[in-house]
Amino acid sequence: MKTAPFDRLTALPDLTGVTGRTIRSVFANPALIRLEGRRPDPVFIAVMQHGDETVGLDVLKRLQDWMTTHPLPRSLWIFVGNVEAAEAGKRRLSPETDFNRLWAGGDTPLLAMAGTIKAELAAAKPFAAIDFHNNTGANPHYALVHGLGGEDRHLASLFSPNAILTLTPPAMMSLALRPLCPAITAECGQASDPAGGEAGFDLLMAVLHLDHWHGKEDRDLRLLEITGRVEVSPGADIAFEAHADADLELPASIEKWNFFERPAGSTFARLPRGGQPLTVIDETGRDLTDQFLSIEGDRVILKRTVTPVMLARSVAAIRDDCLCYFMELPDTI
Ligand SMILES: [Zn+2]
Repeated sequence: MKTAPFDRLTALPDLTGVTGRTIRSVFANPALIRLEGRRPDPVFIAVMQHGDETVGLDVLKRLQDWMTTHPLPRSLWIFVGNVEAAEAGKRRLSPETDFNRLWAGGDTPLLAMAGTIKAELAAAKPFAAIDFHNNTGANPHYALVHGLGGEDRHLASLFSPNAILTLTPPAMMSLALRPLCPAITAECGQASDPAGGEAGFDLLMAVLHLDHWHGKEDRDLRLLEITGRVEVSPGADIAFEAHADADLELPASIEKWNFFERPAGSTFARLPRGGQPLTVIDETGRDLTDQFLSIEGDRVILKRTVTPVMLARSVAAIRDDCLCYFMELPDTI
């Protein structure tokens, strides 16, 4: 199978003034950039796998500035992802070209490209892998981790005290790279907030300078597991205000619930028209709605204490993906 075109570089092009929209002036195609550092086993980072999540470009700019005065302590491989979507200001141009769903093998040109990069990385015996993303809604910075081992916890703790354990979907990059090395997705808040680039750069610096992995985290880590995905029926009207004429009424401040515990017995939503458009499923698609939600009058009540994440006050984001995820403490901790 023919591999989708990607460029191989051995230095960063000048990123001064480059934005997501103009990224193809320096990266016409996806690119794999290999920078040599003092230690040979590389840190691998991915940026712009989602085209409108520009935090990775910000991290690269900060890195380029830092490298004018500092030699790299460790080799660094950089994958620049969906530059076509970035040019269009979109997460992806089609469901098939979601770059963060390419990494579990397969033989389309894009899957073959990801397979080639993964095989070369495996041969280089990477030290760590970090995939930089932004969130649509307001969330704290958090890592997606794919194991409860000491190395996973150590890497996640270098980024944020908040981490989420997830073992799906298998084609997401950090999960697919986990067999090679400690690997996380670093969720760096909203793209408009420069604090994300700063936190991402600080994480990269910490990992590049790290000598070895500890068997435990460096600081307190609040590690939660996704136990339910909350979906809204496709035809349902959604409103973010009180007393709206809609199938599903959510509070205007709903993004403030992200990463805060919502107690059992509390109201999660209202259903002004009397239907029930909410479904909670697990990662296999099994319906768990009755375990999480009950209906009392026109209210949706939580049956269990949960911590929501990825809530966004955006009907488009809800329709494109889901309303949110529910998290709980993993059984194994
Ligand atoms: Zn993303």
